[in-house]
Amino acid sequence: MRDLAAKHCGKLHGPESIAGDDQGSGAGSHGSMNYARFLTAVSAARKPSPIRILTELQQRSPPSLISLAGGAPNPNTFPFQSASIKMKGGDAVVLDEPLMKRALQYSGSYGIPELVSWMKDLQKSLHNPPTVGYSPERGQMEMCVTTGSQEGLCKIFEMLVNSGDNVLLDAPTYSGTLAALQPLGCNLINVASDHHGMIPADLRKLLARWDPAEAQKLGSSIPRVLYTIPNGGNPTGASMTSERKQEVYELARKYNLLIIEDDPYYFLQFQKPWAPTFLSMDEDGRVLRTDSFSKILSSGLRIGFVTGPKPLVDHVVLHIQASTMHTSTFTQLMVSQLLHSWGPEGFLKHIDGVIEFYRSQRNAMLSSADKWLKDVAEWHPPMAGMFLWIKLKGIKDTQQLIMARALEKEVLLVPGGVFNINSSDPCPYVRAAFSLSTPQQIDEAFRRLADLIKDAIQV
Ligand code: PMP
Repeated sequence: MRDLAAKHCGKLHGPESIAGDDQGSGAGSHGSMNYARFLTAVSAARKPSPIRILTELQQRSPPSLISLAGGAPNPNTFPFQSASIKMKGGDAVVLDEPLMKRALQYSGSYGIPELVSWMKDLQKSLHNPPTVGYSPERGQMEMCVTTGSQEGLCKIFEMLVNSGDNVLLDAPTYSGTLAALQPLGCNLINVASDHHGMIPADLRKLLARWDPAEAQKLGSSIPRVLYTIPNGGNPTGASMTSERKQEVYELARKYNLLIIEDDPYYFLQFQKPWAPTFLSMDEDGRVLRTDSFSKILSSGLRIGFVTGPKPLVDHVVLHIQASTMHTSTFTQLMVSQLLHSWGPEGFLKHIDGVIEFYRSQRNAMLSSADKWLKDVAEWHPPMAGMFLWIKLKGIKDTQQLIMARALEKEVLLVPGGVFNINSSDPCPYVRAAFSLSTPQQIDEAFRRLADLIKDAIQV
């Protein structure tokens, strides 16, 4: 059946597409990636679901196909008929009866074809990934839709991270990543970072322990995965320069690492041109990128994407097949209708409006910080995203301060410790989001925070 599927839609590959010797390929060069060495035992054991293969096939077949396969329910029995979702500005996204029938039905695990192909075109135009670097038999860039980028990350970690593995990341980092990684029993190695993100010199120093020439001897202790948030980091707001990215990429080549580029704030960069991504420099096929529509279209719709070398994305899809099966068809169709009616220009125009909003919120937060916090705190202006990372002077650990006293002063921020690998390590930072509150509320919050800090220092 796999042959049949591959012939018809060229999309379905089982674990055999990754198979190879397990010794690692050393420094990556064109066509030299051996993905087998990166997979966990659980991932290597995942098999394509025969039923899911049929669903993919059916999705790509002409309407004249009579299918008695699959166990899909009959949508005529469902109570919904059609949907018209009013847009700001007067237009509407319409799911007429035939589309609504599709929206209410199971769909393929890569995502609905029209959304995936729209996104592939966008990724190509934004990142122009040098996919020529992938050998012909391993295919080229592939994408799948995930239920938010969080699902993509969880599936990627499940695919790549064994208990006991050394995983490199720059903490403080997104607490959702720590929540997904830590229970896997891996050893998280912290690469130092500053307000320009991960520091390549520190990565080089850490990696020096694992001489690639000794790869055989060092076996499983060699890190294989590096995770980073390149733009508007959560919680730090830091964005990596392209020089740093290039250096990190070269180190990843030397030590044969896969890079997980978690970039949900890519579309919220305040300056143009947007920074080149790891995907855009990926000659070897060693970057798995997660994107999200959460910050620009809707967080509740739960639409994210994984982009990367086909053999790895195919494997992510095997994990999806066995869990959620696919992201909501209704949500995907609704978003796809919108994107097709907008076109890439309309999409980017919408993003410009979103950026404008966040830029002005960021500026409002910075001027309130200048007004109230200058003597009691330090920060760097974020160039992307929705967070300001604030170091409180004279406070060793913000956990105590926030938990014990902040509510008394009626101001709430996230204590920085929750973003550290060891959350009980004392941390003098707090994370302030400028996404939801009005400039007036932000101003009042910082007045209260300044009071709180001054009280705490005096005690
Ligand atoms: N990565 C980072 C760095 C995030 O900040 C978030 C959301 N806060 C996610 C991933 C997950 O986003 P979503 O699942 O909504 O796409």
